[in-house]
Amino acid sequence: MGLIAYSCPYVPAEIIAAYGLTPSRILPSSGSFSGPVGVTAGVCPYMRGFINSACASSEVDAIILTTVCDQMRRAKDYLDQRTDIPSFMLNVPSTWQTAEALRLYVSEIRRLGHFLERMGGQPPEVDAMWRIMESYDRKRGKLRSLKGVLPAIEYSLAIAKFNKSGRIADTGVNVPFTGKGIPLALIGGPMTMMDFQLVEMVREYGGDIVLDGTESGERTMPARFNFRHSIHDDPIEELAECYFGYIPGVFRRPNSELYRWLMRELDSLKILGVILIRHTWCDKWHAEVCRLKEWLKVPLLDIEIDGESLIVRNSCRIQAFIEALS
Ligand code: SF4
Repeated sequence: MGLIAYSCPYVPAEIIAAYGLTPSRILPSSGSFSGPVGVTAGVCPYMRGFINSACASSEVDAIILTTVCDQMRRAKDYLDQRTDIPSFMLNVPSTWQTAEALRLYVSEIRRLGHFLERMGGQPPEVDAMWRIMESYDRKRGKLRSLKGVLPAIEYSLAIAKFNKSGRIADTGVNVPFTGKGIPLALIGGPMTMMDFQLVEMVREYGGDIVLDGTESGERTMPARFNFRHSIHDDPIEELAECYFGYIPGVFRRPNSELYRWLMRELDSLKILGVILIRHTWCDKWHAEVCRLKEWLKVPLLDIEIDGESLIVRNSCRIQAFIEALS
């Protein structure tokens, strides 16, 4: 079965699976330079890591990108000019409050379907599509039940594993996790596997990440599907509601849902400080730094990461931030 790689949470895995192909949302191991996106100034390390690791895998048959940022748009040029891997650019509108924006997203999902057909997929019957959505919804329900049971970062890793392979690890844990450090949240763009080491740094200095609000964590899971449908209802419209109409993203205009989500979680988890993980050259998150500082009721630490190392400077700043909160 053809493996279709992507990294954006607005790509519904269900549509790829329904066409008989294998969806795989990849978190790169780092911002590796080895591949079609080499050493180039002005490139987001996450985009570089994603494209290079997808291209390095002999299993990947095609790559789906989205228009959520200029870096990912640029990634399409790298793929077209420097590789022969087929790729598809899904247009995800920035505005989201109008029926037209939702309709545009629905039409983009249908256009994605035509691309998947060209990749060897078969258009699904409506019933089969609903069944696949039910299966994903059930698995995500199981994943959600791990919130609060696993430490926040292990929860994110379980989500990442599910996004990559469709599998859920049996944790064998059913007692709620209680951290002992200062409760902190992460917010920001997606993390490479290397960036997860930052959590160790936080732990070492007496902090405890109790919420992962980065793009790799729970924030970007779609809503639960509504299965009270008739056989005439279009499953793609339900997919669109639960992905496009629900996931709070930084690129959205307005992106007030992101702030609402954050406020709810910070209050309920009694979080004392927020660490923003921002990739070098990521305009989307850079533009939010001042607003977040003004808006948050707790201190914010803005950390820039370059995809190569977690930088000694960050270690000192994390230590000072946690000490100031103690
Ligand atoms: S981290 Fe920012 S610039 Fe990089 S791919 Fe994500 S949104 Fe785009």
